[in-house]
Amino acid sequence: MTRKQKRMLIRIVTSGVLFGAAAVLPLSGWERLAAFLVPYAVIGWDVLWRAVRNIAHGQVFDENFLMALATVGALAIGEYPEAVFVMLFYQVGELFQSYAVDRSRKSIASLMDIRPDYANIETEDGLKQVDPEEVAVGDAIIIKAGERIPLDGVVLEGTSALDTAALTGESLPRQVQPGDDVISGCVNLTGLLKVQVTRAFEESTVSRILDLVENAGSRKARAEHFITRFARWYTPIVVLAAVALAVLPPLFTQVGWLDSIQRALNFLVVSCPCALVISVPLSFFGGIGGASRAGILVKGGNYLEVLAKTEIVVFDKTGTLTQGVFNVTAIHPDHCDEGQLLELAALAECASDHPISRSLLEAWGQIPDSSRVTQAEALSGRGVRAVIDGRVVCAGNDKLMEDIGVTWHPCHHVGTTVHVAADGVYLGHIVISDQVKLDAKQAITALKASGVRKTVMLTGDAKPVGEAVAAQLGLDEVHAQLLPADKVEQVEALLKQVSPKGALAFVGDGINDAPVLSRADVGVAMGALGSDAAIEAADIVLMDDKPSKLAQAIAIARRTLTIVRQNIVFALAVKLLVLVLSALGHANMWQAVFADVGVSVIAILNAMRAMSVPKNP
Ligand code: ADP
Ligand code: MG
Repeated sequence: MTRKQKRMLIRIVTSGVLFGAAAVLPLSGWERLAAFLVPYAVIGWDVLWRAVRNIAHGQVFDENFLMALATVGALAIGEYPEAVFVMLFYQVGELFQSYAVDRSRKSIASLMDIRPDYANIETEDGLKQVDPEEVAVGDAIIIKAGERIPLDGVVLEGTSALDTAALTGESLPRQVQPGDDVISGCVNLTGLLKVQVTRAFEESTVSRILDLVENAGSRKARAEHFITRFARWYTPIVVLAAVALAVLPPLFTQVGWLDSIQRALNFLVVSCPCALVISVPLSFFGGIGGASRAGILVKGGNYLEVLAKTEIVVFDKTGTLTQGVFNVTAIHPDHCDEGQLLELAALAECASDHPISRSLLEAWGQIPDSSRVTQAEALSGRGVRAVIDGRVVCAGNDKLMEDIGVTWHPCHHVGTTVHVAADGVYLGHIVISDQVKLDAKQAITALKASGVRKTVMLTGDAKPVGEAVAAQLGLDEVHAQLLPADKVEQVEALLKQVSPKGALAFVGDGINDAPVLSRADVGVAMGALGSDAAIEAADIVLMDDKPSKLAQAIAIARRTLTIVRQNIVFALAVKLLVLVLSALGHANMWQAVFADVGVSVIAILNAMRAMSVPKNP
């Protein structure tokens, strides 16, 4: 409990004891009123104060006003114990609510634990701890066993196992060795690592995740907007209704004034909308928190709402369903030797971030001499072009060769073919192949089991490769040889097939597909391999790059929405019932306050269920 909550607890206990004393003391008249006013003041002064202050600010109708009006009214008609009790119970409810909000905030804050405190740099007199923000790109840092990795980088020396659970929800440690990328926020478990920093702190994985989580609350779901608007209209209407209830029956029926005022006050007590106002955002908050513990970052409650009704899932191939790590399976040079062809291709690729580029550089296995390469550019969906030793070298697919007017010849190997041409002369091709991710098939099966109507793959790769992968994974549809703009067109066509109540999700790695990510109803990006652009453009990020996490994300989204709906229906139904009963004079203030606080507590407890993570279906 926080200090504030502890103080409230003390006030509740004090007021409760004083209340008990006032109730048993044999007092009457003014003395009795005074005896009850003491516990009333102890427990209710802040509510009264806020009500008065809000009136001064022109925001009359809120729950403070409702409570103040109801209890002052009860005091005025001589129902002293009721007045104190309503206030007391209201505060118990508030305390419970603030405790619940804190708990779910803490569960998200445990994610915040990934914020590193320091980075070790080597100096002449040993290791020195500095603020991670002070470390520049290119600097080397040391991470001892047990320490958190403060910045993204590449391992220079040492081997170790990393605990990535906080980021990815994955409990198996990841082995790293020199040359491997490490991301900030993981914990170094076993060995000493020397890491060269590749990103400044503000751009590091940790900072980006923290930003994301901190801003998640600001993107509200439709249900949340509904509740805010609802509360704005609801309270004034309730107050008007209460006034009518107090005034009209005595004028037109046999009901006496005292009786009707009592009914109106009960009516006010029950009408407090706290259960809805707090439990709906709390459910979304819980859902986002639960998802992030499973390594699924959701940028706002609204995306959970959309994700829950996914009908069509569209996947990118390379890096999304496949590992994005290519092995060279054949080198077929035309006018040079194999080594030269690979070298040219690798040099041309050296400025690109595409998985193909990284794999070709890896296969070549040398450090590129950057002085030989100028004007390198990536031609998205086709390949790359660069000037190497004064020759214009192009490396890429059939489309690229046609664009530059080079005659190429196909290869009998099945695989992604990278053709290479220099100064308009065809030099041959390199065939590379990628492997599907281990959980890709399971991902498609799980999606279908969860009611997704159609799964589609869009790829820029050649038709045979695309079709082979689609058949292997059991996808419903595949479209190959697409440029990034064609992918947008395909998604737009698919969007037309979505029913009005459904949604389309696009899952990509962000390389060449940021436009599609933002065009889909909900864009899902692979986080660890994925580019920064993907994480910017996506609405949901799967931190461990596993496509199977999507089905889990949908399950979390659906559960969160079920909880939200349960709370709205339950709270409204109980309220309505007690409102009618109190309007008819069948409920007293004790029952009214139980209904109000009871509903809040149950709704909040239900909302907190959203935090737990459903198992992978
Ligand atoms: P996908 O849709 O499968 O993710 P991309 O849109 O990234 O694929 O790329 C489509 C195709 O364009 C690749 O299959 C490849 O033939 C070619 N290509 C893209 N980038 C490169 C590159 N850097 N080097 C060679 N070929 C490339
Ligand atoms: Mg791709």
